[in-house]
Amino acid sequence: MTKNFKAKGHTNKRMNEEVYAERRQVMDMIYRAKNLLRANGIVMPRIDVRITTMRKDTTTCGSARMGGNLIWIPDATLKQPYLYKVVLHELCHTIWNIEHDQNCKLMHTNVQLDYTDAEAEQIFVNYANTYENNTLFKSWKEKFTSNI
Ligand SMILES: [Zn+2]
Repeated sequence: MTKNFKAKGHTNKRMNEEVYAERRQVMDMIYRAKNLLRANGIVMPRIDVRITTMRKDTTTCGSARMGGNLIWIPDATLKQPYLYKVVLHELCHTIWNIEHDQNCKLMHTNVQLDYTDAEAEQIFVNYANTYENNTLFKSWKEKFTSNI
């Protein structure tokens, strides 16, 4: 759960049938989040996903390019029951540039296990509403995206 631009420690896996299936697993969760936002009147941008392998001595379970609509998920995380929470966490980083918050179960630096996916979705929607309805954030985002 780092916020590295370079996704330190990740090695992108070469795309083959197996890796496409792994990426599909994450994309399905992103669609789930996208539908959730749509139900709240918010359009989620297109998100790129890279499936990676991590060095054995690291515990990173996901990374995001801050405000950059790109996330990295190590293949080891795919097997974890908390995968959806990691995806929502990384989406908060990459869509709204949200920083870590040790008082927030979703944006904590470590994956919190004592809450449900439904609760994670609630927090996710709350962030979405907060940022999408924030004029300062909107003008920043417009400036940021118009410079690409
Ligand atoms: Zn993080």
